[in-house]
Amino acid sequence: MQVLVFSAKEYDQQFLTMQQHADLSLHFTDVRLNEETCQLAAGYHAVCVFVNDQLNRNVIHKLAELGIKHIALRCAGFNNLDIDAARQNGISVSRVPEYSPEAVAEHALSLMMTLNRKTHKAYNRIRESNFSLKGLLGFNLHQKTVGIIGTGHIGLALVKILRGFGCNILCYDPQVNEQAVQHGGQYVALNELFQQSDIISLHCPLNSATHHLINAQNITQMKSGVMLINTSRGGLIDTPAVIQGLKNQHIGYLGLDVYEMESELFFEDLSDTVIQDDIFERLSSFPNVLITGHQGFFTKEALLQIASTTCHNLLLHHQQQTDQHTYLVRPQDFVQ
Ligand code: NAD
Repeated sequence: MQVLVFSAKEYDQQFLTMQQHADLSLHFTDVRLNEETCQLAAGYHAVCVFVNDQLNRNVIHKLAELGIKHIALRCAGFNNLDIDAARQNGISVSRVPEYSPEAVAEHALSLMMTLNRKTHKAYNRIRESNFSLKGLLGFNLHQKTVGIIGTGHIGLALVKILRGFGCNILCYDPQVNEQAVQHGGQYVALNELFQQSDIISLHCPLNSATHHLINAQNITQMKSGVMLINTSRGGLIDTPAVIQGLKNQHIGYLGLDVYEMESELFFEDLSDTVIQDDIFERLSSFPNVLITGHQGFFTKEALLQIASTTCHNLLLHHQQQTDQHTYLVRPQDFVQ
């Protein structure tokens, strides 16, 4: 099976090539998939894509016209995919539902800890022989209340980590995860979580119900000085509302690994470019905002697992098999 891997970076190539199989011929391009670039998929049987590739109705329709039969997402989230369009065009889709939840949970923790203890500032100070502690005052995580929104794989991994810190853990998820309860999580209503949490960390998927889950209205419900962490998807946060919350100091800290308009910025070296996104520039100008460029997944363990599951999914497709755990669209769901 000939597969074109879009948005392929050096590390994607390295880890995916390690999983090579006689039935699988992977070709790599660093081009991002969108309406202008989908023509590149001509002659391939399947495409492999990542978080910022565009899989809207038009792209999927064009891919189907080119003979693409399978889309392998090498990520967990699939908010960038029109699942109905895939079904209607007879294209099966697979993803990597769980690769290393700990990778993202640990990154959420590192955002919390860096914002709190200001190690990024201390690092620069010491290099300039500035040994003053002024402005570096932090707080103990011990006995702080952390609200976790979404207690699936990653949210649960974070519950387990924070239990070790002695935090009070509040959870919100339409589906209670008994393991989160066993590890000390207490499920509450969303507004209660907003009102009681010192730190709020987002771990739910982006969909129509969760779009701008953090907005002007519910920011006012939060504790003054709250720390907000988003390692899930940028669209969960109404960014201008959060900027307002930072300006009036209701939000005390903001840690982001994802950003609503990240597809224009992330995963590229733009150091010689004038950034045109004024909202992003305003966001990064706050002293109490820490942004990383969607690197929560970026550990050796996670990349190995992503590559292995992605190739497994492609081979499963090739062998005309199904797997309800990894397939978003099972062949029996196809509209032929
Ligand atoms: P998961 O499917 O295991 O868990 C998601 C949980 O969110 C589920 O328990 C679900 O019931 C819950 N949920 C759904 N709607 C909700 C709502 N309205 N409010 C609260 N909870 C809701 O997914 P996961 O593996 O834990 O991943 C979570 C998200 O993390 C993904 O959707 C993806 O967007 C993001 N992610 C980011 C990175 C990164 O590198 N930063 C890497 C992987 C995943």
